[in-house]
Amino acid sequence: MLRTHTCGELRLTDDNTTATLCGWVQTIRDKGGVLWIDLRDRYGITQLLLEDGQTAPELFTTARSLGREFVVKATGTVIERKSKNPNIPTGDIELKVTSLEVLNPAKLPPFLIEDETDGGDDLRMKYRYLDLRRNPVRRSLELRHRMAQQTRVYMDGQNFIEVETPVLIKSTPEGARDFVVPSRMNPGEFYALPQSPQTFKQLLMVSGFDRYYQIVKCFRDEDLRADRQPEFTQIDCEMSFVEQEDILNMFEGLVRHLFKAVKGIDMATVPRMTYADAMKFYGSDKPDTRFGMEFVELKGTFDTVDMTSGKGFGVFDSAELVVGINVPGCAHYTRKQLDELTDWIKRPQIGAKGLIYVRYNEDGTLKSSVDKFYSEADLKGWAAHFGAKPGDLMLILSGDAAKARKQLSELRLEMGSRLGLRDPNVFSTLWVLDFPLLEYGEEEQRWFAMHHPFTSPKPEDIPLLDTDLGAVRANAYDLVINGTEVGGGSIRIFNRDLQARMFSILGFSDEEAKAQFGFLMDAFEFGAPPHGGIAFGFDRLCSLFGGADSIRDFIAFPKNNSGRDVMIDSPSPISQAQLNELKIATVAK
Ligand code: ASP
Repeated sequence: MLRTHTCGELRLTDDNTTATLCGWVQTIRDKGGVLWIDLRDRYGITQLLLEDGQTAPELFTTARSLGREFVVKATGTVIERKSKNPNIPTGDIELKVTSLEVLNPAKLPPFLIEDETDGGDDLRMKYRYLDLRRNPVRRSLELRHRMAQQTRVYMDGQNFIEVETPVLIKSTPEGARDFVVPSRMNPGEFYALPQSPQTFKQLLMVSGFDRYYQIVKCFRDEDLRADRQPEFTQIDCEMSFVEQEDILNMFEGLVRHLFKAVKGIDMATVPRMTYADAMKFYGSDKPDTRFGMEFVELKGTFDTVDMTSGKGFGVFDSAELVVGINVPGCAHYTRKQLDELTDWIKRPQIGAKGLIYVRYNEDGTLKSSVDKFYSEADLKGWAAHFGAKPGDLMLILSGDAAKARKQLSELRLEMGSRLGLRDPNVFSTLWVLDFPLLEYGEEEQRWFAMHHPFTSPKPEDIPLLDTDLGAVRANAYDLVINGTEVGGGSIRIFNRDLQARMFSILGFSDEEAKAQFGFLMDAFEFGAPPHGGIAFGFDRLCSLFGGADSIRDFIAFPKNNSGRDVMIDSPSPISQAQLNELKIATVAK
């Protein structure tokens, strides 16, 4: 090896020994008679010392020829530092250099290789290999590595086996858009990259591998919404001979293990909530439960309550739902602040028509933006219904129930952020259960599987398949952490007839179902065990553990918002010769 130690390794206990380090030049401080170099590698920084009278003059010459990020090899004696640096583990020592060799010079990097860099996103992406030298990005990848390692420790300990499934598979019309790959040997035909290994893991259950997992790349060709990547990683899992309860316990165990092993956090039992309650109390199927501010209905759809109608306020009278949140301690909000909040919620991204407020003043009086219609006694009634206290502020939306809930959900998150209730280092987990099996696509005028077509209805809801498709609940579950869905799965259909029925509900003809998923339905006739599973979004899980908003820095070489890798410049055109070989006509740009 070219080195005896890393740049993060030497301590006072190594005093007076000889060591050789290799690394990149972080900084040089030249005081004339004394010259210091901070040498950096993945493990840390060690200070090199050159001193007049002690160090050979030619070493000074070499040192003065160095620039930032030069790759250097230095040998010397470990000595105690005169002025120690308590901020780094090697801060008690320095290396008094006896030999200094430039292994490779470096061009001036296009941005500072420091924790706080001056490089914008685009530049950092173009020179990602330099960005990866920076501590925060390096630490994120190290965290990812530990998460993957600990996942394997837990899964292996539970008898799961890791099986690789193919990357070149078959395109199917369900779910998101597929990335496709032309087949040279089968002109005019295409593989698809997997959106998930769903059908393969189910086939593995038929094969008798009763506990499967895989840390696996998946691909979805979706319009990139903020912080989505066209290729991403899942912890994909499946088990046989289980019920929903078994899956919840097993994977709560995984999450608990990860919190303990990676973050040293003892996680409490994961609370559970039905989808219906999540919608009722948070207007979202992935509520952020780090804080309260649950929804309260003044004119309900879940409850029959109506505390607003018949007082001459047309907006509420005509609304399907009047729903609000009580924001603790915000009665002091000024008119200006409330106007600003109203503008915020009226932005097209949220699209509310207006915002009604009720201030519950410290002196016990109530002041609202609808005083014209509602008496103080009415407002008192509302406040009691909200559980509001003097000093609180009630914010109320109304209109179409689904829309109002969605808008209020955004407002709740915004108020949570403003009040500092969404600390990224506080973790609140939640299972959301009993999702609807199907949702109706108004545009397409057909039913879609809410999770995927292989999800089993709750046995007690199967009769509803004949009468009320929208009311059928699924044995499906999501794991939510801090308002982010980090995992989702279901108990599967394992009966051929029920699976065929499901495809028909989703609008497949028998022939189409056979052509697309015949292999799975065939397999169900050869002794398929009852089974179910879950998949976790690994990139997202890592970013949550890292307390970061973006998944980008937890992926070594991510794509940008237009799905491009700007470093390797991909996607890119291919040659006419390649196109000819694939029997693909030239595509006009
Ligand atoms: N394959 C599913 C997904 O990618 C997860 C599962 O049902 O296990 O969302």
